[in-house]
Amino acid sequence: RPVVGVLSVQGDVREHVAALDAVGADPRLVRRPRELEGLDGLVIPGGESTTIDRLCRIFGLHEPIRRLVAAGLPVYGSCAGMIQLADEILDGHPEQQTFGGIDMTVRRNAFGRQVDSFETDLQIAGLPDPDRPFPAVFIRAPWVERLGEEVEVLAAVEGHPVAVRQGHLLATSFHPEVTGDHRVHALFVELCSG
Ligand code: GLN
Repeated sequence: RPVVGVLSVQGDVREHVAALDAVGADPRLVRRPRELEGLDGLVIPGGESTTIDRLCRIFGLHEPIRRLVAAGLPVYGSCAGMIQLADEILDGHPEQQTFGGIDMTVRRNAFGRQVDSFETDLQIAGLPDPDRPFPAVFIRAPWVERLGEEVEVLAAVEGHPVAVRQGHLLATSFHPEVTGDHRVHALFVELCSG
């Protein structure tokens, strides 16, 4: 079973642990730098990206995670996790830093300026059983405003990319961990097994 860390400083950690477990991974909580050792992949949960960033820097996790992302560790970020994987963010806290890795610019709370949260059925490329729509839950979600050439768009809402992949890095604006549909986690665990 691929060993997949879940960054556990803030956010909906338990839901990701349950989803990873359901698709055959061996989830591990990551709160300290040494807990990053021996992972086949890492999940950055949804939550509050400014808090996740601040705590990661306080706990000495920021630099090691940056290095692992750059070294090719598969990493999946949902919502706040997507923000933390973006090379550039808009409407961030002035001091907010990201791990980066995906060549994109993401705007925080982009959908939230219209409606705070919503659910919609999405067609997501690359999922097992791709014709079956995915119930995507958006909560004060970011969207992608600029994409580099290496970035593949797996799904979009009204023209805004909401699921992207760049090599070993996967990010969604929405929260697949809060639905019973674990196909996004299955796709990620497949990347971790590769
Ligand atoms: N709005 C949050 C942020 O900017 C993300 C929300 C979420 O993860 N549901 O970090």
